[in-house]
Amino acid sequence: MSGARATILVAGAGIGGLTAALALAGKGFRVIVAERAERLSEVGAGLQLSPNATAVLSGLGLRAALAARAVAPDAVTVMSGPRGVELVRLPLDQSDPAAPYWVLHRADLQAALAAQAGTHPLIDLRLGCAFEHFIMDANGVVAGLRRGETRRSERAAALIGADGVWSAVRRQLDPTPQPQFSGLIAWRGMSDNQVEAPRVNLWMGGNAHLVTYPMAHRRQTNVVAISAAQWREPGWNVPATPAEACAAFTAPQWSEPARAIVASVPQWRKWALCTLPAAVTWADGRVALLGDAAHAMLPFAAQGAGMAIEDAAVLAHCLDARADDIPAALKRYAGLRGDRVARVQHLARQNGRIYHLTGPLAAARDLSMRLVGGPRLVARQSWIYRWRA
Ligand SMILES: Cc1cc2nc3c(=O)[nH]c(=O)nc-3n(C[C@H](O)[C@H](O)[C@H](O)COP(=O)(O)OP(=O)(O)OC[C@H]3O[C@@H](n4cnc5c(N)ncnc54)[C@H](O)[C@@H]3O)c2cc1C
Repeated sequence: MSGARATILVAGAGIGGLTAALALAGKGFRVIVAERAERLSEVGAGLQLSPNATAVLSGLGLRAALAARAVAPDAVTVMSGPRGVELVRLPLDQSDPAAPYWVLHRADLQAALAAQAGTHPLIDLRLGCAFEHFIMDANGVVAGLRRGETRRSERAAALIGADGVWSAVRRQLDPTPQPQFSGLIAWRGMSDNQVEAPRVNLWMGGNAHLVTYPMAHRRQTNVVAISAAQWREPGWNVPATPAEACAAFTAPQWSEPARAIVASVPQWRKWALCTLPAAVTWADGRVALLGDAAHAMLPFAAQGAGMAIEDAAVLAHCLDARADDIPAALKRYAGLRGDRVARVQHLARQNGRIYHLTGPLAAARDLSMRLVGGPRLVARQSWIYRWRA
């Protein structure tokens, strides 16, 4: 690997963009990260990161910084929403210190990535700098960037659109696929009621579900409530009233412990769940997409950030291997990622249908989960968790 390599421009400093910047800089590329937001604030809520993702982050030297903020749960407990009883417990393998299963706050993950990127000599992280458009030629790509009222152009060997589900890079690269509203809203908040066990709890109920897990260093419990609703504005951080969030979680469909969890959250944020169709063009010439910009999915496999992190690692490997032919490298990246991500998107949709069953179908689901048992249920996810770059 030579000392000085080409410049890669990354639009978006979310989880995918920052991971890509670190992975690319680790291969010797110079990276400019243009992030529209003026500062990387407390946006989002808790995230689950499975071993396929934490192995990449460990490889980038983030293990110690993240371990100080994360909880390593011992299991996922599946609960019956209406009956308030545990159905099955899926043990999580925490035996590999370099690839744990973690839960942590998105803001803590983003801050750790940004801190490392901010001190890396090959990374130029520009906040308050929005990507607007690009022009590609045979030798490179020129991106139009805007800071306030000031516009400037930046030339790079490649442009990576890591600018989320409403990606401006995708709009130009492949304008046809549009994010589709799923009919579901994620209500997200923190409860000050701390749960003692380091565990992810999934409560399944009719047409809705709840996920909770501890945020140890914040001394809080992360609560995500998913239910059907019609509000559908873009954005991560739109405030919601407790009445809106609690509307789907009432008796008798929801037992007292489940309702108590929802009622214990003082402040909610809502997020309309949008997905992208599988037919997005991920790469063309010197431009490629990564993370939600390429494959926004339902969060029911807890893999949206995980897939963005995997994308970043594969992208860096491909560019490292074919730095002499960037379009070929980006094409290879897209080819390596498409099938796996489509499989995870499919699983997420399927999980959503299973979690939200009602009546006799829900009873059959509960029975079959008990019969199959936690260890075998978790083994069905091993194709996700065992992936390594
Ligand atoms: C309820 C819920 C729970 C979830 N739970 C999990 C989970 O447990 N595990 C998991 O792995 N995933 C989870 N996800 C998914 C995960 O949060 C996303 O998939 C992930 O954050 C996507 O990362 P990204 O970097 O692709 O995009 P984003 O995090 O959206 O980042 C995009 C960045 O681009 C910036 N940007 C946008 N436009 C421009 C522009 N024009 N110019 C410059 N910058 C721009 C934005 O400001 C932002 O910083 C969950 C999602 C939801 C809704």
